[in-house]
Amino acid sequence: MITGKNYIGNNLSSKGTKQYNTFNPQLNIKNEHVFTEATAEEIDEAVALATSAFKVFRSISKDKKAAFLNTIADEILALDDLLIKTYCSESGLPEGRAKGERGRTVMQLRMFADLVNEGSWVDATIDTALPNREPAPKPDLRKMYIPLGPVVVFGASNFPLAYSTAGGDTAAAFAAGCPVIVKSHPMHAGTGELVASAIVKAAQKTGMPNGVFSNLNSSGIEVGEQLVKHSGVKAVGFTGSINGGRALYDLAAQREEPIPVFAEMGSINPVVMLPKSVKNNYKSLAKTYASSITLGTGQFCTNPGLILGIKGDDLTNFIIKLSEEIVKIDPTCMLHPNIIKAYDAKRQKAVTQDNLHVAAEYAEDVKTNYARQTVATVSGKAFINNPTLHQEVFGPYSLVVECESVEELEAIISNLEGQLTGTLIAHDDEAAQYPEIVSALQNRVGRVIFNGVPTGVEVCPSMTHGGPYPSSTDSRFTAVGIHSIKRWVRPFSYQDWPNELLPDELKNENPLGISRLVNNKQTTEKI
Ligand code: NAP
Repeated sequence: MITGKNYIGNNLSSKGTKQYNTFNPQLNIKNEHVFTEATAEEIDEAVALATSAFKVFRSISKDKKAAFLNTIADEILALDDLLIKTYCSESGLPEGRAKGERGRTVMQLRMFADLVNEGSWVDATIDTALPNREPAPKPDLRKMYIPLGPVVVFGASNFPLAYSTAGGDTAAAFAAGCPVIVKSHPMHAGTGELVASAIVKAAQKTGMPNGVFSNLNSSGIEVGEQLVKHSGVKAVGFTGSINGGRALYDLAAQREEPIPVFAEMGSINPVVMLPKSVKNNYKSLAKTYASSITLGTGQFCTNPGLILGIKGDDLTNFIIKLSEEIVKIDPTCMLHPNIIKAYDAKRQKAVTQDNLHVAAEYAEDVKTNYARQTVATVSGKAFINNPTLHQEVFGPYSLVVECESVEELEAIISNLEGQLTGTLIAHDDEAAQYPEIVSALQNRVGRVIFNGVPTGVEVCPSMTHGGPYPSSTDSRFTAVGIHSIKRWVRPFSYQDWPNELLPDELKNENPLGISRLVNNKQTTEKI
């Protein structure tokens, strides 16, 4: 059941006066439930509860924490059809996508449960004392990761489940031992509240402290701003626009006590097509890329928004074929009228720039809130000289840049803003002939893909989902996979601490049986 209220710890609350509804973009009507924006008082309550919950949650046993994460997954599945129907009614996305994203969300929670259960993620590092060392004795030093404190997570519009209420950021923060306050995304507040109810049930069933989780509604930037400024909040996770992410980052930096903001923001994901590959495979590449550009109505952070190639007949053939293929695809619905409004405005701004040519645009009538897929072309020189063309057009849009030479191609890549991904399309041994292109790409992105598409982000330990600014605010961390837990912890050392007072992870006996670096040797042995 959806009540339209905030979860402040275990309690439902709605003290405010500002109300809003979510919107069904497929039907182009408001959904029935009314949500009430959280008040300053409710924000304070949620942060105070999280602060007191942290005292217990930060050192709760690994078995209990894993049980909490697994029970959240169970409770999300128990929401069954209600969750899927609510998700579809608030996002315009099809049932298959809703079920796929639920599967991914549950899998991420269980993955973190396994990580916590195994226990070695704390990176325990021990250097035993050398009391007789000359000229001075060496102390006993023992280091491990400890949680930062209450984390605020901003739900993402384009992933109502996997990067929202119980998504990757939340699962990683819980695994680290941090209480979470979610600033629910206004476009899918109902989906958010259902998932919040699952988290609260799981917290109660597994004996977590009240306040380990809160879910605050808001439609507007005030609640988010107050949360980021709140002295009890110690870190922030965000997925969305560069404007939003940067504003929160600046706000966090201006606090008396600055805190980290891990924002995953815009990216146009350059795809470099080397000449031999375009010549031999332009038809199949065109088909593959028409699908990738339009997948999920282009609403993925890894959408291929920029295709770079060397000017000539082969690239022209590719552009003609891509244009034919992309307009064959039926247009699909965007997440919300505001997103389609932003798509139309940004697309219009891009295609009216000097020297830009529209190669394909879906020309038939489309339903309200459905996006017209578009492909445009531009010369390398015009692209270099026009920063507007480097900006993300969030939706089914891609720009093909026709470079005069390999040198120009390299210069374009080197001057791009930071990106989540870069893709290299190469024939046989072609990649080896362009080491400078590969190196330029590596310098601007977080992940390179060989002969594939950037859409589709595997959740596994070796995934990097992040990259140089502005694709993310800190390129040293990933937002996907188990290593994303490192955003919510800090290294902490004990010097000459009595063995019985150390956490189990660092005790001589290694009672948890975890893998540790002891005197420079990785081992599960006791000391
Ligand atoms: P958004 O506008 O960045 O908003 C994301 C969340 O941050 C929302 O909850 C929003 O609150 C909040 N927020 C935004 N600006 C803020 C500020 N200055 N201070 C405090 N809170 C702020 O992103 P969106 O709603 O998901 O989509 C809008 C656009 O973002 C899209 O059209 C697209 O261009 C881009 N986007 C990019 C990606 C990507 O992965 N690259 C993903 C999603 C969206 P309110 O909504 O309540 O104002």
